[in-house]
Amino acid sequence: MIFILPLLAVLIGYLIAKFLKPSSSSTFKLLLSFSGAYLLSVTVFELLPEVYEHSGKEIGVFILLGLLFQIILEFISKGLEHGHMHHNPNTQQFPLMLLVSLGIHSLLEGFPLNESSHLLYGVAIHKIPVAAILSIFLFNSKIGNIKAFLFLLLFALMTPLGSWLKLQFEFIQTYAAYLNAIVIGVFLHISTTILFEASKNHKFNASKLGVIILGIILAYFM
Ligand SMILES: [Zn+2]
Ligand SMILES: [Zn+2]
Repeated sequence: MIFILPLLAVLIGYLIAKFLKPSSSSTFKLLLSFSGAYLLSVTVFELLPEVYEHSGKEIGVFILLGLLFQIILEFISKGLEHGHMHHNPNTQQFPLMLLVSLGIHSLLEGFPLNESSHLLYGVAIHKIPVAAILSIFLFNSKIGNIKAFLFLLLFALMTPLGSWLKLQFEFIQTYAAYLNAIVIGVFLHISTTILFEASKNHKFNASKLGVIILGIILAYFM
């Protein structure tokens, strides 16, 4: 399950990009808001208390390092992890740095997936809009379909690779609490940014508020 769901999420994202028009769709924006609320809630309800159980203040340093690290990654990815894209669509060059930054992000989020099924759902749901936006960019760019598919495939494999490395190597498990803390920082940054950017001009939007509350409730009870 921990290997299949993240792959499936990328496939669904790709299909959404191919058959719907996510950028103009309000359903897509609701999905994005829901993914942000759910991921934030799972982080607060499960990941956060867990890392503080065994350590004190110093673990917080790693959480903030993760947050800082994600800010730096987004200088390269231009915010793709939280749902939009400002890259030049006419580029003919393979966007290697984008792949590197998304790859590191995805690898990191693969590490804690074996610890909580809620987290697995949270990461999978978060991946759908990201993969959709990524697909739109790749297939509208001029790098060619083969390279676009290759990019998407490598991106899809990184989270399962993270989970696999974690299960395979003992030294990763030894430092699991610190790695989890870094991932918490990453999730706090992307999920709050999604929610922050969701309320354009702070205009009241009942359905958006509804899916955010739904995300919180589902993360708590299910
Ligand atoms: Zn943004
Ligand atoms: Zn992610």
